[in-house]
Amino acid sequence: MKKGIHPDYKKVTVKCTTCGNEFESGSVLDQVRVDTCSNCHPFFTGKQRHGKSAGRVERFQKRYGLKKEEE
Ligand SMILES: [Zn+2]
Repeated sequence: MKKGIHPDYKKVTVKCTTCGNEFESGSVLDQVRVDTCSNCHPFFTGKQRHGKSAGRVERFQKRYGLKKEEE
């Protein structure tokens, strides 16, 4: 393959750092990491995660009194 003619766009494995899910995508990068993917995002799962990211959100909500109920 000749270099410098086309952008080095290739298939990469995208890894979700929250749930560990991996899926293929296209990128010029060798490795792609995301915080949220379609496997664990509340929009897709319909519920809140209880992972590290969700914990941070809950602490934030409690600190500012946005969340009244304790779990
Ligand atoms: Zn994920």
